Amino acid sequence: MVIFRIKNYVEKDINLPWDQREGEIKMKPLHDPLYITAVFKQVGDAYPTDRGTELKYSREENPTVRKLEDKLAELEGSDNALAFNSGMSAISTLYFSLLEGGDKVVLSMEGYGTTIELAKLLRKFGVDVKLAYPSADSLIETIDEETKLVLVETMTNPTLKVIDVPEVAKRCREVGAILVVDNTFVTPLLYKPLEDGASYVVHSLTKYIAGHNDVLGGAVLWNGEFSRDLWEWRRRLGTIIQPFDAWMIERGMRTLEVRFERQSENAMAIAEFLKDHPKVREVHYPGLKDDPYYKVARRLFKKDLYGGVVAFDLGSGDNALAFLRGLKRIFPSPSLGGVESIATYPVKSAAKTLDEEIREILGITDGLIRLSVGLEPLDELIEDIDNALGVVR
Ligand SMILES: *Cc1c(COP(=O)(O)O)cnc(C)c1O
Repeated sequence: MVIFRIKNYVEKDINLPWDQREGEIKMKPLHDPLYITAVFKQVGDAYPTDRGTELKYSREENPTVRKLEDKLAELEGSDNALAFNSGMSAISTLYFSLLEGGDKVVLSMEGYGTTIELAKLLRKFGVDVKLAYPSADSLIETIDEETKLVLVETMTNPTLKVIDVPEVAKRCREVGAILVVDNTFVTPLLYKPLEDGASYVVHSLTKYIAGHNDVLGGAVLWNGEFSRDLWEWRRRLGTIIQPFDAWMIERGMRTLEVRFERQSENAMAIAEFLKDHPKVREVHYPGLKDDPYYKVARRLFKKDLYGGVVAFDLGSGDNALAFLRGLKRIFPSPSLGGVESIATYPVKSAAKTLDEEIREILGITDGLIRLSVGLEPLDELIEDIDNALGVVR
């Protein structure tokens, strides 16, 4: 008989199938077991957890999910973390917890397409939603005394504008607004918005943190007291992550740093290659010294790295589609952050829900390609890109 203890959180006798002996050998695995179970034993009071909740049903708490949450909190340097079954369920559950009819929300008009779409739908519940240009100045101008919540992405999708989060946080503090920062594109390795005054950080774990293009997940992280209210909304909405998915993400996290560093280095090299390529009109990458967001990125980011996403303009929709068709190695698809390189056509994916005039203001042109750089050998990636650019006019 062996006793596993996970942070005094689960203390349970587990019988290994072949182990008939009592207390003879102390088996200890390197990695914790994966708790694929919907229910936990309950007679009278349920098993209490260290954060005042109960362990009885995996829609509420599960040790494998909790393990992921502890690791996420450690990575972000936050006091609390809750994991969800996607980035969108993290954001929507947070809205349920924080917002009510009559509240005013300010969002950057450039962002993850579904995030913008969801925010606009909050109007259906009487929430006043204002979209601002993704710059600290424009956001600050839109945020007023009435503002309840502000959501920004550290680096916008798809044109990679880096937001001066500390400036926005200062304004939010002045008016008492809650600042939510979606930190998916830069990861806690480069930037920790909670240190600069954000109230909550959200992540799509699907991207860099899981990192393998094979699992979905999301997280909300914050400092201070545990929010029983957010936990209750996760329980009511059923938006908790499944244990197997949590385990896969926790496994992926073990290599986050080396993956992200290599992807960022490869992305930098590709951005430089594209910048000098005659078929490429414009490159958006905050690591390029002449990029308008280089300075703010340099100031905010902890390392001289700028993430694994590069965006570039090929002049027309026909050119963009010809380029995608011409790729042999890089996979044309939405999403980002995995070990396999992926090329995305934002006009038909991430930015599909944006009005045409807004796309124009933001520079999301018909010829724009967003490339998420993976871990393939750099020379093979550049060769693939160069070949595909051969068909571009
Ligand atoms: C992908 C993404 C989301 C949504 O996450 P899902 O896991 O796909 O639900 C939110 N924000 C950003 C910046 C993203 O890239």
